[in-house]
Amino acid sequence: MSTDGDRIVMVEMPGIDPEKCNGCGLCVDVCRCHAVVMVGNRVTIINTKLCGWCALCEMVCPTDAIRCAYEIVVEERSGKK
Ligand code: SF4
Ligand code: SF4
Repeated sequence: MSTDGDRIVMVEMPGIDPEKCNGCGLCVDVCRCHAVVMVGNRVTIINTKLCGWCALCEMVCPTDAIRCAYEIVVEERSGKK
């Protein structure tokens, strides 16, 4: 979680279930941001600042090993009624 002026921003990265991952590498191939990489025969997302939240990795994963959590942005209301 981080603060950005009046906003509270909660960011989670796509999560990978190592029990479901078969190491096919499709998610690495489709990631244009180079945020996800193979380490050995497993996938690890290592650079949170690079992820562009396109969810392509989740879409191509044949084993449903990747889940893209939502980005939650909470904005303070400063307007008058
Ligand atoms: S959501 Fe998109 S940018 Fe982020 S790791 Fe997956 S493919 Fe890469
Ligand atoms: S696409 Fe899915 S199964 Fe294939 S390497 Fe990525 S997380 Fe693992």
